[in-house]
Amino acid sequence: MTTVAAYAAPAAKAPLERTTIERRAVREFDVLIDIKFAGICHSDIHQVQEGWGEAIFPMVPGHEIAGVVSEVGPGVTKYKVGDRVGVGCMVDSCRECDNCKAGQEQYCTGGGMIGTYNALDKDGEPTLGGYAEKIVVDENYVVRIPDGLSLDVAAPLLCAGITTYSPLKHWNAGPGKKVAVVGMGGLGHMAVKLAHALGAEVTVLSQSLRKQEDGLKLGADHYYATSDPKTFQELAGTFDLIVSTVSAPLDFDAFLSLLRTDGALANVGAPEEPVSVNLFSLLMGRKTLAGSAIGGIQETQEMLDFCAEHGIGAEIELIGASEINEAYERVQSSDVRYRFVIDTATI
Ligand code: NAP
Ligand code: ZN
Ligand code: ZN
Repeated sequence: MTTVAAYAAPAAKAPLERTTIERRAVREFDVLIDIKFAGICHSDIHQVQEGWGEAIFPMVPGHEIAGVVSEVGPGVTKYKVGDRVGVGCMVDSCRECDNCKAGQEQYCTGGGMIGTYNALDKDGEPTLGGYAEKIVVDENYVVRIPDGLSLDVAAPLLCAGITTYSPLKHWNAGPGKKVAVVGMGGLGHMAVKLAHALGAEVTVLSQSLRKQEDGLKLGADHYYATSDPKTFQELAGTFDLIVSTVSAPLDFDAFLSLLRTDGALANVGAPEEPVSVNLFSLLMGRKTLAGSAIGGIQETQEMLDFCAEHGIGAEIELIGASEINEAYERVQSSDVRYRFVIDTATI
């Protein structure tokens, strides 16, 4: 066991504070990672707030982890000391169900994926996430960060990157396709960059025009404010694919009206309240309303390689650990450009 410094929420809704935690000794297939940077995902906030249901405390959030391998178990073959690596939202799964075998560990049906934090590992111990100096993870749930990507801008790719890349690929975003991204926060700004790099025509649907200039710089072709009712008239029946990244309940009927016939709205936002949908919004135009959760380990590696090839990293605001609580407030008021990343050396 190693004692490491971390930031934890001691109880639901409580501010995060500095603490120490124990990491297990490296086992046969484990790697010990010196964490350099950890992104702040809105999912961290939902879970600290217990907005998704009962959670495990003390909670060390953080599932956008970038660091360097500092020790490997005797059975490890994929990584060696000094390698630059990342860990995302999961640290294990059953490895035996059809989804795990197909590289879709995030949809594990053999008990579900084991989250990087706010979950119990196979020994029944609570998992603790990336707002910490070090983490120990089985090599099969670790990915390689390509040389061309700096670790700070790579960290958010481990959740925001893969969560948007996976549906864009699944619903064939590419040349000739009109893709809309709803909400330009952490996930949304990655969706814009990735959809643009995949060759799609990209439209941002944000609450206001205050981030328009940024959106166009990041690769959007068009930018509209959803607070303006004219937006919904002008864009009716336009998109092949809409990716919604909004953290709050949304008027899905209004957004479904923007799809063309056979279009799909892939929702990745995870609001704390249920939403209602008028099914006529789907009937007229044979439309699909779908969801998507992160991506598998293999696809996460593919996304990182794609980002390195296209020079894509997240737009980040680097903060010290003492600024985490303030950053949470800013994320909650949509005041993020576009991902807060903790320099873990400040813990
Ligand atoms: P974020 O940085 O806070 O971005 C969310 C964006 O949604 C905001 O920047 C804002 O964009 C828009 N928004 C916020 N409140 C809104 C409201 N009331 N009405 C309309 N638009 C609103 O959050 P994030 O880290 O990108 O995460 C987004 C959501 O995805 C969260 O619910 C998170 O838990 C979830 N998530 C899901 C997965 C998955 O696997 N499916 C993975 C990661 C995160 P504008 O200012 O541009 O309007
Ligand atoms: Zn996340
Ligand atoms: Zn499984």
